[in-house]
Amino acid sequence: MEDVLALFDIDGTLVDTAGAGRDAIEIALVEIYGTAGPIDELSFAGLTDPYIARTLMQHAGLEDPEIELRFDALWDCYETNLSAILAERAHRARVHAGVLALLDALAVAGVAIGLVTGNIERGAQHKLAACGIADRFTFGSFGSDAENRDELPPIAIDRAQAKTGRDFHKRRTWIIGDTPRDIRCARAAGIRALAVGTGSFTAPQLRNAGADHALDTLADTIAVMRVLGDESRMDARGARFAP
Ligand SMILES: [Mg+2]
Repeated sequence: MEDVLALFDIDGTLVDTAGAGRDAIEIALVEIYGTAGPIDELSFAGLTDPYIARTLMQHAGLEDPEIELRFDALWDCYETNLSAILAERAHRARVHAGVLALLDALAVAGVAIGLVTGNIERGAQHKLAACGIADRFTFGSFGSDAENRDELPPIAIDRAQAKTGRDFHKRRTWIIGDTPRDIRCARAAGIRALAVGTGSFTAPQLRNAGADHALDTLADTIAVMRVLGDESRMDARGARFAP
């Protein structure tokens, strides 16, 4: 499966960090802007960190230039708080069922493994490190690369090619994520979406949102490998592509 590229979302897909990201953003927004805006009314699912911050601050009445002026300070403050909260909650941060076995199996099969996540890069590293899987990923695209998630897959694909020296066909390139926004960013890039019901949506909801495949969890390694391997030669209607 050396021609397959698997691009993983982080929160709700690979790991559960017990709300550490959300709490760290709230503390950082209050510290840097004096308010976290209507944070309790916003679902973060599938949104990039900068999009979350901008949306909340716009609702708090701030203008874009004022918001952007303090982004660097915001992310420094966020990183400090995230790191502290993850350390405090070390016993609660966990990798979802089957993820370790799947990453092992993908590596053995020669699949290129990367990230497409709304987390800023530094935040992604802290979350993955807290769950013991930071060393599994050597490339990816992050909320710090683009505020709009739909722009992230092409950046990750370019980095995958640069890192591995391999070309990946769109039909052999997968986003693996837990929200309709993960599916949408795959669609925008013309690549495949494998959705998993371990975040805020169920597998049937994600199937309805247009995922090529949706599984309840990533616990069944063979089932996931089968989807990424064999069936990436098929389109959404089941028509088989030439291998
Ligand atoms: Mg997610």
